[in-house]
Amino acid sequence: MDDFLTRSQTPKIPRERRVFCNRNLKMSQIAWVGFDMDYTLAIYDQGEMDDLSIRATVEKLVLRGYPEFIRDITPPKDFPVRGLIIDKRYGHIVKMDRYKFVHKGYHGLRELTKDEIKELYLHKKIRPATPRYHWIDTLYALSEVACYAALVTAMEERGFAIDYAKTFTDIRECIDEAHRDGTILNAVAADLPRYIHRDPNLAPTLHKLRSSGKKLFLLTNSRWSYSDKMMTYLLGGAMSEYPSWRNFFDVVICAAQKPAFFQDHRPLLMREGEMLRHATFPLERGKIYEGGNLADFERALAVPGDEVLYVGDHIYGDILRSKKDSAWRTAMIIQELEQETSAHDLCSQDYERLDELESKREHTEDELRFYQSRVKELTRMIEAKHAPPQAAAHPNAAPSTHSPTDLEAERVRIKRAIERLRGIIREVEAEVSTIDRRTNARFHPYFGPLLKEGTEQSSFGKQVEEYACVYTSRVSNFLSYSPQQYFRSPRDVMAHELG
Ligand SMILES: [Mg+2]
Repeated sequence: MDDFLTRSQTPKIPRERRVFCNRNLKMSQIAWVGFDMDYTLAIYDQGEMDDLSIRATVEKLVLRGYPEFIRDITPPKDFPVRGLIIDKRYGHIVKMDRYKFVHKGYHGLRELTKDEIKELYLHKKIRPATPRYHWIDTLYALSEVACYAALVTAMEERGFAIDYAKTFTDIRECIDEAHRDGTILNAVAADLPRYIHRDPNLAPTLHKLRSSGKKLFLLTNSRWSYSDKMMTYLLGGAMSEYPSWRNFFDVVICAAQKPAFFQDHRPLLMREGEMLRHATFPLERGKIYEGGNLADFERALAVPGDEVLYVGDHIYGDILRSKKDSAWRTAMIIQELEQETSAHDLCSQDYERLDELESKREHTEDELRFYQSRVKELTRMIEAKHAPPQAAAHPNAAPSTHSPTDLEAERVRIKRAIERLRGIIREVEAEVSTIDRRTNARFHPYFGPLLKEGTEQSSFGKQVEEYACVYTSRVSNFLSYSPQQYFRSPRDVMAHELG
């Protein structure tokens, strides 16, 4: 399997800038490439955005009657990751593996013990879609988790009785309100260089795709005025061939309301100044469209769905929905991937050691089982020697030439060997957990890797694998590849094919 994992199509590209492939994708067969805007074309500074959202949320919570002291708490911005589940019944924040079992979690900011996790989550799977839980699947939502964890902890420390579900709902409503009333977007739009990383390779990447004959579209949920400002900042004046950012795109759709765009049948509107009217087909380059739906849009693109590649960052709204509702191919932008891959590289020696320890444990456990059954056998033999004659004459009993003293001596010897083996297993387990802690901390101080949980995929990692044809940390990573690139996935390997 190593061959498949290490074989790279383009070895010169550093791992954190590569495009990774889950399902074969021939770029030569892609006619249209569509882009989401926020967190896809526009790379937000996570720390600055969290600060802004946390400030806005806390102010609104105080207005709702939360105690003033919450203004002074500092929610740890490095606490949350995508893919977490909020258990609103208990005030817990947990991470699931691909089978929806929990191995790691916090109550507020206090790490849950193994027993607490076992009690609540190991006897049954979590059903994330039920009202008890809330799934964190966007980078926008990370600040909600930081606020929630810090608030639960701070209020409990001060003896407040907390309604865990209501507190989370309040935080959600406050942050939604801050988005709706412009508190957040106005602040971003007023100071784009502070909140947005302008990627100098973005324009050349789009240009390269266009030069190979592909058409591009923008499909964003953001409103027109915000999109125009953002796209001007990202692409305006970047290349002399493109006087405006709008020249890069053949179709521009704002206020698309994904995921409803993929499922409902809302009309496509066309902007004329400040007015909106029903769009007419065919769609025109240079016009601004709003709303719309997948069926009309696909007709307008006039190519089969599998010739469309959609690039987005939201696992549900962009990737999962477009995969389930259309034949579109998908590319997922995962900003965290740069950190994830460099942490992975730092861990290579530790992973080798973990493999060694795993086989040592397996081997020792085999030996242990052998000795344990030998002890049972000896015990039976010793009891038979001491038993009345009819018991010893059991038809299956092997005739023994050993004296009871020999047997007893052997039993003592083997029991010592068993103790020794148990000691080795304890040592192995201790070393494994030391290494696990060390490797997890390289990925993330609280939750370890984003895409893995222990040796399994995380629940988030599984969704990435299932719905994203390819994934990468930023759009401009495509610049290192040919616009006709054949992205090949590693061959799937099942358990029965290994070793
Ligand atoms: Mg987005």
